[in-house]
Amino acid sequence: MSANETDEERDRAWQWDPDMRDMPREVRNVISPVHLTGENSLQFRCYPGISCFNHCCSRIEILLTPYDLLRLRRRLSLTAEEFLYQYATPYTLSKGQLPVAMMRMDEETGQCPFVTPEGCSVYSDRPVTCRYYPLGLALLHRQQTAGHEAFYFLVKEAYCQGHQEAKQWRVDDWRQDQGSDGYDEHNRKWMELIIQRRSAGDATSTSLPVSEFFYMASTNPEKFRQFVFGSSFLKRYQVDEETAARILTDDEAMTEFALSWLKSVLFGDSDVKVRPEAVAALKGGKGRSES
Ligand code: SF4
Ligand code: SF4
Repeated sequence: MSANETDEERDRAWQWDPDMRDMPREVRNVISPVHLTGENSLQFRCYPGISCFNHCCSRIEILLTPYDLLRLRRRLSLTAEEFLYQYATPYTLSKGQLPVAMMRMDEETGQCPFVTPEGCSVYSDRPVTCRYYPLGLALLHRQQTAGHEAFYFLVKEAYCQGHQEAKQWRVDDWRQDQGSDGYDEHNRKWMELIIQRRSAGDATSTSLPVSEFFYMASTNPEKFRQFVFGSSFLKRYQVDEETAARILTDDEAMTEFALSWLKSVLFGDSDVKVRPEAVAALKGGKGRSES
């Protein structure tokens, strides 16, 4: 795309991309409509002292993944409830209608709560969105193969001087250097669920309050643990002793388990199965009510 292209030309460039064409024009105007792979290159360098230092930490939207939340609240020694209350705002994704947590920016300044004159105060635990920047990650669900395809795109905001630096990266080297690849691995199940739900749409409707459970599973393993161990959940679902012991103490394992369970409820293709006796009781109850 040329620097002199018109808005209409940019609009046409996005038409082939179903994932991106619904974005507002002001967002699309800073995103290059080129799908990048891990092998493509990126020219970029960011460092303390660059003239635009900290400029990118204001007036932005940062979606907080389950692993972002886990790392940040551990860093701050907060419970999930405390972190969500102080630093997050729920937001419903337009496609798929699933709720996610967004970082709450300062209402007056628009600044991230963790930015300081010296830089990011939670740098080693910063969210994956900050790690990727100036790249973004997109996932597409492929109906034919029921698989997912990942690609990256370049975000080029006028104020960001890092693009003028000479340093060249392979996209995969950038991801590794910033730790984005590890975060993606931790968030894989969550990302797949969002993509699958978005692709299936209303076909996944159940009697379950899906949004409520999804938000709890994604943001608050402590609360989900109370649900699993404080209700009839373990009487209804097969959970082996080893898994039960792990999810009782390990927040990451709890999140993984909660997302697997949601996947089984929504799409019927996961490891968390209903106990045979619960199925029999359900059938018996149904039979009685129908007779
Ligand atoms: S170079 Fe870009 S990413 Fe780095 S501080 Fe400046 S605006 Fe932010
Ligand atoms: S978490 Fe850190 S890197 Fe990300 S926007 Fe806030 S201050 Fe900037």
